[in-house]
Amino acid sequence: MVRRMTARILDGKKLAETVRAEVKVRAAAFAAERGRPAGLEVVLVGSDPASQVYTRNKEKAALEVGIRGKLHTLPAETTEQELLALLDRLNADDAVDGILVQLPLPGHIDEQKVLDAITPAKDVDGFHPVNAGLLASGRPSLVPCTPRGSMRLLALAEAPLSGARAVVVGRSNIVGKPMAQLLLAENATVTIAHSRTKDLAALCREADVLVAAVGRPEMIRGDWVKPGAVVVDVGINRVDVPGEKNAAGQQKTRLVGDVAYAEAAERAGAITPVPGGVGPMTIAYLLDNTLIAAERRARG
Ligand code: NDP
Repeated sequence: MVRRMTARILDGKKLAETVRAEVKVRAAAFAAERGRPAGLEVVLVGSDPASQVYTRNKEKAALEVGIRGKLHTLPAETTEQELLALLDRLNADDAVDGILVQLPLPGHIDEQKVLDAITPAKDVDGFHPVNAGLLASGRPSLVPCTPRGSMRLLALAEAPLSGARAVVVGRSNIVGKPMAQLLLAENATVTIAHSRTKDLAALCREADVLVAAVGRPEMIRGDWVKPGAVVVDVGINRVDVPGEKNAAGQQKTRLVGDVAYAEAAERAGAITPVPGGVGPMTIAYLLDNTLIAAERRARG
């Protein structure tokens, strides 16, 4: 019989406040030393409502810790050439330490070409192939924010990683692959699962550390979780609340992760909630990456 347990909740909202407070101190020291604040430029193309919220939040979070955040909102019909020209200007501007292009981009723009155009030293998302390659070679430079935040949550769980079986579900360049690299660097034995993986449930049940980055609401069920495992749920999915309307009379929605939280929390040793888990940590580490980029560029 499986012993019912109640998982420790890994509070990303609270931990993100700690990370942001640390960044604020460093941002003040940087500004005092250099005579200017660290600068983060966030570029949004088009008017996708979720992207508008994300980019505004990033700009606001930067300003709150003393980073000069600037949001560039470009119309959806912006050409690839115009976007590349803006990136060229930002790459060349010495007061700019970090550049982030919000994804997804409109279909007529080649996403990879755009990400490749950000100078690696200012690539605070860590998506440039140079930064991905450095991470894969065990020489991390600017590391993607969501995996960094997820690792900090694992540290909060005090999960022993060395020798642990880790399963990362999802192999995107943004989350799954860099997460696997970071776990490997901590000597976990890592398996990356994806849409072609056979018997995913059985694989997940072997995991001491289970990371879900799939984008499918509550796909990972409670009985896929090994009792006592640490579960990091990266997924952010908006789902309808059946039969409920909001104040404006529209269908009410809520955010859920890729893990069936209530079920999984009965078996896991520790688990991140959605919302309030990985999401706030991602923004906190974007600020941290901006300071890292600024400090490195200042050192030359
Ligand atoms: P992608 O769509 O790029 O990647 C999803 C991955 O999941 C792919 O590797 C895909 O496999 C795999 N997958 C899809 N269906 C299945 C399945 N049925 N079984 C096993 N694997 C499957 O997503 P991202 O990595 O960008 O994002 C993942 C989730 O994390 C999303 O919900 C996103 O919103 C969220 N996210 C949250 C962030 C945060 O701050 N908390 C930041 C970034 C993302 P294959 O490669 O074979 O297609």
